[in-house]
Amino acid sequence: ANGLLAGKRGLIMGLANDKSIAWGIAKCCAEQGAEMAFSYQGDALKKRVEPLAASIGATELVECDVSDEGSLDRLFAHLKEIWGTLDFVVHAIGFSDKTELRGRYVDTSPANFRMTMDISVYSFTAVCQRACAMMPNGGSLLTLTYYGAEKVMPHYNVMGIAKAALETSVQYIAEDLGKDGIRVNAISAGPIKTLAASGIGDFRYIMKWNELNSPLRRNVTQEEVGKAALYLLSDLGSGTTGEVLHVDAGYHVVGMKAVDAPDI
Ligand code: NAD
Repeated sequence: ANGLLAGKRGLIMGLANDKSIAWGIAKCCAEQGAEMAFSYQGDALKKRVEPLAASIGATELVECDVSDEGSLDRLFAHLKEIWGTLDFVVHAIGFSDKTELRGRYVDTSPANFRMTMDISVYSFTAVCQRACAMMPNGGSLLTLTYYGAEKVMPHYNVMGIAKAALETSVQYIAEDLGKDGIRVNAISAGPIKTLAASGIGDFRYIMKWNELNSPLRRNVTQEEVGKAALYLLSDLGSGTTGEVLHVDAGYHVVGMKAVDAPDI
């Protein structure tokens, strides 16, 4: 293939269905000639993921639960065996008990706090540890975050704390791996209707709010996140690391919108 990712091999983690942000990214990467492997969580998702991967010519599907170190070891051992080296990884994984994605943050339980941090934050570090060992010629590592890391968003709660820690991890790992030519970045996506997002209280209202108040006056698509990911994963982003790139129709720059009606 003749494209921005021609000859590159990447791992996509976090594909659940055709609404997944991971799928928006994978489609863009496929169009640009990347060869990809997919990891999915649990057998129940396999039947969803298999036809999607097949539709872009990918056959390497590996089960991986990121809360299990052994499972991560097996995933990377498999990639080492089939490919030897790796050029990019997309980490599009997050999880929290949805009963705590409503109500007050202050009521978060210790068990869910730890689980959320483990799956949504530490897993990216654990992935980077293993991936960098397979990137002798440099590479690009990417994760997904949300504005709830920066400002209080309704119901985001413990996920906001987790995303703040994830964004800071991106900075530390970027410094650690930069000397090896490995770039580490995050995309802060605006709200998109996915399986994970449906667990967040009042998600429809959050989508509507963003549509009405972002500079572009609309929400973003999975494909738009895919295009931004292409920049960070390919040579187009060769000068960018440690960055949190907002793909949110500009929502993060708005402090307050002017009232359209002049008499209010
Ligand atoms: P999604 O439900 O399609 O993807 C979430 C994925 O995480 C699923 O594939 C799920 O299997 C995986 N996962 C959860 N726990 C796991 C575990 N223990 N081991 C392995 N995989 C596990 O939803 P999505 O919205 O595409 O989420 C992808 C990423 O994007 C998440 O980090 C999410 O926080 C982030 N994000 C989403 C939005 C949005 O509005 N949808 C906005 C900003 C950021």
